[in-house]
Amino acid sequence: MSKGVLFLLSGPSGVGKGTVKAHLFEEFEKCLVYSVSATTRSPRQGETDGVDYYFIDRETFLKWIDEDAFLEHAEFSGNMYGTPRSAVMRQLEAGHDVFLEIEVQGALQVMEKMPECVSIFILPPSFEVLEQRLRGRGTESDEVVNRRLDQARRELPMADRYMYQLVNDTVDDTYAKLRELYLKHSSVVHEMYNV
Ligand code: 5GP
Repeated sequence: MSKGVLFLLSGPSGVGKGTVKAHLFEEFEKCLVYSVSATTRSPRQGETDGVDYYFIDRETFLKWIDEDAFLEHAEFSGNMYGTPRSAVMRQLEAGHDVFLEIEVQGALQVMEKMPECVSIFILPPSFEVLEQRLRGRGTESDEVVNRRLDQARRELPMADRYMYQLVNDTVDDTYAKLRELYLKHSSVVHEMYNV
């Protein structure tokens, strides 16, 4: 059996990357694994520890850094986020494709350490559309939303560091493009599905 491929998915908060990724996981659940990150941010309503994130305190996060337990880690909007290394490596070896949905600083670290990874950046149709989506989500205070918009202004110019850039006009179109890229780069998907 082939080894899995590591995919990186980035894009500003509210751009819709979670939605298209969820579609991909529904369609190809047998060969795709989502890497659960660790973070120091508090859980949002509906989020579960160990499923959406490992919610840990800053002290534990720093200890994991010391133990070299992260493939990458970064500070984003005042919180720390990191990808546990061992789970990713184990899944790739076992023939699963792994998706990391991470911000730009962490993604650049992974591109350097694992240049064979496939990196995809999802862009909004415009900054105004992104702002509407983020405010419409209603899950965060104005202060948090403004911080995330500032972060987006810094992240968007980094899109060209990625192998692929997809503009999220509609979920259906973006999903179709993401699916195409996935089928192009994965080996295991063709072994498991008739595609
Ligand atoms: P949120 O707080 O909205 O769940 O995530 C904020 C940002 O952190 C998003 O851009 C998300 O992709 C990114 N993120 C989530 N997990 C990780 C991780 O393990 N490492 C890095 N570098 N970024 C992450």
